[in-house]
Amino acid sequence: MSDLETYRQKAAAWLESVAPRYNAKVRYGLSETENLALGRAYLKERFDAGFAGINWPVEFGGQGLGHLEKVAFEAEELKHGMPTVFFGISLGMPVPVLMKFCQDHAFVRERVLKALKGEEIWCQLFSEPAAGSDLAGLRLRAEQDGNGWKLNGQKLWTSWAHYADYGVIVARTDPTVQKHKGLTYFWVNMKAPGVTVRPVRLAAGDSHVNEVFFDDVRVEDTQRMSPVGGGFGVAMATLMIERYVATDSGGFGPKLDHFVEVARKAVINGKPAIEDGRIRQQLARNYAMRSGLESITARAMLMMQAGMEPGPEGSLNKLVSVRSRQKLSELAIDLMGTAGLTFDEHASHSDDWAMSWISAPTGRIAGGADEMLLNTIAEKILGLPQDYRPDKGVAFNQIPA
Ligand SMILES: Cc1cc2nc3c(=O)[nH]c(=O)nc-3n(C[C@H](O)[C@H](O)[C@H](O)COP(=O)(O)OP(=O)(O)OC[C@H]3O[C@@H](n4cnc5c(N)ncnc54)[C@H](O)[C@@H]3O)c2cc1C
Repeated sequence: MSDLETYRQKAAAWLESVAPRYNAKVRYGLSETENLALGRAYLKERFDAGFAGINWPVEFGGQGLGHLEKVAFEAEELKHGMPTVFFGISLGMPVPVLMKFCQDHAFVRERVLKALKGEEIWCQLFSEPAAGSDLAGLRLRAEQDGNGWKLNGQKLWTSWAHYADYGVIVARTDPTVQKHKGLTYFWVNMKAPGVTVRPVRLAAGDSHVNEVFFDDVRVEDTQRMSPVGGGFGVAMATLMIERYVATDSGGFGPKLDHFVEVARKAVINGKPAIEDGRIRQQLARNYAMRSGLESITARAMLMMQAGMEPGPEGSLNKLVSVRSRQKLSELAIDLMGTAGLTFDEHASHSDDWAMSWISAPTGRIAGGADEMLLNTIAEKILGLPQDYRPDKGVAFNQIPA
């Protein structure tokens, strides 16, 4: 048996032993704050068992293992639907970026340990009302204030900001240069005076995203994580990590076996829907797509394990998985007839077709909208010319708002 398989079995056995106290079944119907409390308890237990920060450096409290061990553990964890959603962004992007770019190692170690144990949560403050796909067009200002900085402006769509203790933020420090050259990257204390968090309600009924206002929020220069004007590069590094998180997160929705069950029960023209050619074609198509993406993911994992940077193929994963999830969920709802119209707000998008369908549009925007991913594929994989950029070479304050 390979070392990796031994590790996977050890992880599976541990998860089996704790899952009855945390899994999706026991949490059904709990409020968000009750779920969060269970999530924090689970993270602490996961830390104590040695399954936290699996591929992170030992010096920061990680396990110092490889990416494959991390993925093996997460695949087993996903099977139980553990309460990890509140910490996905925190541990997925801001904390790894902090380890890479923050120079104050004692501070980083303390934050990493608390984040791994679920005691602290970090959010990612990038998008604004007029800056999402066009991140470099952001307007929140950071102005020099003595030996520190003062932040003024608004962020939007910040996941879990209402629970966050800290966040990473990109701000405009110089509007007189080209838009991506005048940005600087900081970490901020979300409890600092002048930070206001307001929830935004999404179509599926939840409000895990927020608008966040900054009114004269003071940050020290030691909170700067990029050279002044060099924030765009660190933001890009953060989003590269985000792509690999999305790669691992299984955006396909319910398993194909669930669809087969629905198609066996439904009837088309007096026969089980599973015998209908169009339904069989959809099943085969989805199976082929999932298998193709699994191969791409497996290759990316092996490259990361070997210390290489996987290519832009990661863009394919989210694009294909969420788009096809929306279509297949719609078909499943059609096959279920009136039963398909019942909406259970406590259901998960990975095992309920209605929830999977209604939450798919946000999935097609979050972490890179479809059209932006198509642009990446066109430019980086197919080698097509760059998208038209009328603001190229123009100082930010000369671009019409
Ligand atoms: C559930 C959810 C959670 C999120 N969490 C966070 C978070 O924690 N932190 C954070 O910073 N942000 C977060 N976001 C924001 C997310 O990153 C942005 O929504 C996304 O980047 C799109 O930006 P936008 O909403 O401004 O849409 P826009 O960029 O305005 O796009 C609108 C439409 O225009 C299209 N479009 C834009 N530019 C082009 C182009 N050049 N060519 C062709 N089509 C184009 C887009 O594809 C899209 O269809 C979250 C979003 C969602 C939905």
